[in-house]
This record gives sequence, C-alpha cells and structure tokens, in this order.
Amino acid sequence: MFDSLSDKLDNALHVLKGHGQITEVNVAETLKEVRRALVDADVNYKIAKDFTNTVKEKALGQDVLTALKPGQMMVKLVKDELTQLMGGEAEGINLSGDPSVILMSGLQGSGKTTFSGKLANFLKNKKTKKPLLVACDVYRPAAINQLHVVGEQVGVEVFSDEGNQDPVAISKAAIAHAKQNGHNVVIIDTAGRLAVDEAMMTEISNIHEAIQPHETLFVVDSMTGQDAVNTAKTFNERLNFDGVILTKLDGDTRGGAAISIKSVVNKPIKFIGTGEKMDALDVFYPDRMADRILG
Ligand code: GDP
Repeated sequence: MFDSLSDKLDNALHVLKGHGQITEVNVAETLKEVRRALVDADVNYKIAKDFTNTVKEKALGQDVLTALKPGQMMVKLVKDELTQLMGGEAEGINLSGDPSVILMSGLQGSGKTTFSGKLANFLKNKKTKKPLLVACDVYRPAAINQLHVVGEQVGVEVFSDEGNQDPVAISKAAIAHAKQNGHNVVIIDTAGRLAVDEAMMTEISNIHEAIQPHETLFVVDSMTGQDAVNTAKTFNERLNFDGVILTKLDGDTRGGAAISIKSVVNKPIKFIGTGEKMDALDVFYPDRMADRILG
C-alpha cells in the first residue's frame, strides 16, 4: 500500500535523518521533496503546499535547528501533520437507532455492494448486531443478485423487491421488515451510475430525505485519484454525508485520495477496503496510516 509514496518520503527525509545538525537550507530542500512526493501521489498541489508550509512553521516554532535530534523531530512533525490531514482521530459509525439505518452512496463500480457485505459481516461478528441488507438498485437485476450472493457469503438476510421501481418504497418496506424481524441495523445498497448525473443525484437525495438515515456513507474507489476527491465533493454537496469509505487500497493506488479527501470535504474516512473478500475491511486510523506511509 502506497509503496511509491513511502519510498519517496523516505528518500526526502533521509537527508535530514543522517544529520546531527541541520540547516534552514536543507529543511527547505527536504520539504520541497516532501511536497513533490505528495503531488506525485496525486495529492492536490494546494493541499501539498499548505502541508509543507505548516510543517515548516511548526519546525521553526519548535527550534528544530537547535534540537538534539533534529532529523527525528522533523520526521515526527511530518507524521503528525499527515495524521491531522487524514482526519486526526478514527471515527466510528452511528449505530444509535433501532434499527440504525445506513445508506450507501457512490458511483457504480466504486465497491458499494462489496462494502455493504463487508460491513454486514463486520457488524454481525459483533454479536449484538443483526443486520439486514437491502437491494435498492432498481435498474440492474444483476446488482440485486450480486447483493444476494454477498448476503449468502456472510450469512446475512437480504431484502429485495425485484420489479418494484421505487427505491424509496423499497427502503421503507425494508425498514418495516427489519422492525418486525428484530434486525437492529439496516444497510441500504443503492444504484450507482458510471458518472455523476442529475437523475442519480435526485434519486439518492430522495431516498436520503425520505428515510433520514442515521449514517450516510460515500463509497469511493481510491484508484481514481483526484477524481475520487471531486466525486466526493459533488456527493457531499447533495447529501452532506457522514463518512467516506475508500475501497481498493490493496491495489497500486498512489494514495492521493486517502490523503486529500478529509481536507476537501471535511468528513472522516471511516473504513478502507483492502480486497475483494468479505473480511478485507479495516477501520481507518489516520495515525496508523501515517505510520505506514512514513515507515
Ligand atoms: P458497486 O457497483 O459500487 O456496487 O461496486 P461492487 O461492489 O460491485 O465492486 C466493483 C468491483 O470492485 C468488484 O469486482 C469488487 O470485487 C471490486 N472491489 C470492491 N472493493 C474492493 C477492494 O477493496 N479491493 C479490491 N481489490 N477490489 C474491490
């Protein structure tokens, strides 16, 4: 995960790590390299620039140049700032409802159905949760089947109503079914399109308004880089979602989406998808991710 970014940051900081004493000049040069590494990883230029400016200010404020171990101090400053950029603390999902209703949003192919299954599995394993998966893609029968396959894999019931063209009605019927059958979490998988379009946005906004979910999650493919950030912005403007799910972090994604998304939409990344299997799901901890990136 993020091997290229890790290597580049390691190279950038390497010069400082070796110095007993460092100068303002090599701090500036190092930060320039750090900025380049971030931009290469698909982080927006302005975010990368703000990042290195902040680190520089903090370094000067903390008298890094006269510190006992200046190199280590710089590495720590970069790590702390990276953690902040990615969200600071880890944030869970709101499960306070009975049932708690979780709405998935995102483009087709982003990994919504897969993540819905993973989340159902994750919650089911907590023992106190009995999830219900809901198929709300009224355009693609194959998508409904896919959710049934996923539900079977994780041993979670799937609610669907093939032929019903009204996702609001399906969602409401599913919530009623959950109440009658003791499901305390309802996970609604919705239809996605290959690109953001008005019809999709209206549909998901209508579902959102009608069912008032406890948690609205935006699922995005991290491989799409800066596009992931732009799509997040568009969905957030319409849904004011609660959190982001970054999928496909197991691929050779450059990492830019993971680093930039929080600062652009100001919503936390809550989980990451790290594979196609139903257990390939991790809670997102910004500090652990920063540790991983900086080695
Ligand atoms: P949806 O259209 O948003 O419901 O997307 P799907 O859940 O159908 O996922 C699209 C494709 O991405 C499928 O082939 C999934 O197996 C794959 N996929 C989803 N999440 C991940 C992940 O975290 N890692 C990898 N490698 N593949 C994933």
